[in-house]
Formats: sequence, structure tokens, C-alpha cells
Amino acid sequence: MMSKTHLAVGIAAALAAAPASVEGLNFALMGGAIGSLICDIDRSSERPSRDVKQGWGIAFTVFFAGFMHESYAYWQTFKAENLWGNPLRLLFLGLLVVLFLFAINGAHRGFSHSLLMFAASSVLIFLINRQTCLFYAIGFLTHIFLDVLNKKPVRVFYPAKGVCLRWFYADGIANSILLLCGTAACAALLILKFKISENILNVMHY
Ligand SMILES: [Zn+2]
Repeated sequence: MMSKTHLAVGIAAALAAAPASVEGLNFALMGGAIGSLICDIDRSSERPSRDVKQGWGIAFTVFFAGFMHESYAYWQTFKAENLWGNPLRLLFLGLLVVLFLFAINGAHRGFSHSLLMFAASSVLIFLINRQTCLFYAIGFLTHIFLDVLNKKPVRVFYPAKGVCLRWFYADGIANSILLLCGTAACAALLILKFKISENILNVMHY
């Protein structure tokens, strides 16, 4: 599937699993955005298409906004988990960068689309920031699932050969339908869960 479709479906799945709180939704947006696109870093040697540029542009904007919100919340309350409070986290972040650099150089739909990459990156993200990990993992799994539906093999069980169901073309009608449904689900879940979080706060207040 195309980048924006991966992003929409991945974020929608992460939001569905998120608790109804501003912080929970924030972590779901951050983890879902990066998790749903990270597999495709193995396309970095290609000339990026408009869809890829737009997809990564949206993902980075969502992640950066969430990161700034979380940093602000931390400095305001000193209660939220600090992303940079523990020097060990910088080591795990370094290892994550090394893992991503290794994945960048692989063939498309190879190592970066595998359960090996999923497990290694999820563990490192868990060690860096626990709240984002589940949503990153959900985003990652939706990416693999959507790519397996296509006609080009995905090496999910790397180093074994790739698998695919050959149901859809990556840029065909199924892609458009999934993009539309994913975007609608993102908007509906955000509004619904934000409303629920407001109601919970109101009940606690009175
Ligand atoms: Zn992919």
C-alpha cells in the first residue's frame, strides 16, 4: 500500500487501542505515526514519490507535535515520564539508530519488513519510552499486514523467502478505500476518545 494509507490505518489502529486520555491519545499518535511507516525506510535509495514525501511529512509533524506536547507536559507537572531523564535511554536510542541504519540498506520489503526488525525495534523503543511502544508495535504490524495483501512478496520471516497474498495492487482501488476508511476512523476515534476524556475529567472535577 501507499505511505498515506499505511499512516492512516496504522494511526487508526493505535488510536483504537489508546486509553481515553489526552496523554494516551498523544502517545498513540506518536507511536502509530512512526510504527506504520518505519518499515519503508528500505526505500530511501529510491527517488521519493509525492506520496512518500507527504507520508513522511505528516508522520514527522505528528511525532514532533506529540513530542513537544509531552515535553511541555513533563516540565509543567514533573509527573509524566521524561523522555530524556535516564542516560541509558540515550544508549538504547543509539542502538535503535544503528538498527534503522542497517534496515535502510536492505532490499525493499526485506529485513525492515520482518518480525526480526519488529521485535528488535519494539524492545528498544520499550526501553526508551514504554508508553509509545505498544502503539509503535501496532503501527508496525498493520504495515506488514497491509503489504502482505499486495502482489510483491514481503520477507516477514526474514531471512526466509517472502510471502504475499497477491490480492491487491499497492496503488489500486483497495489502497484508496483503505486510505479513506483509515482517515475517517482516525478522525472519529480522536473526537470520540477526546470527548470521553473530557467527560472523565468533568466527573472527577465535581
Ligand atoms: Zn512496506
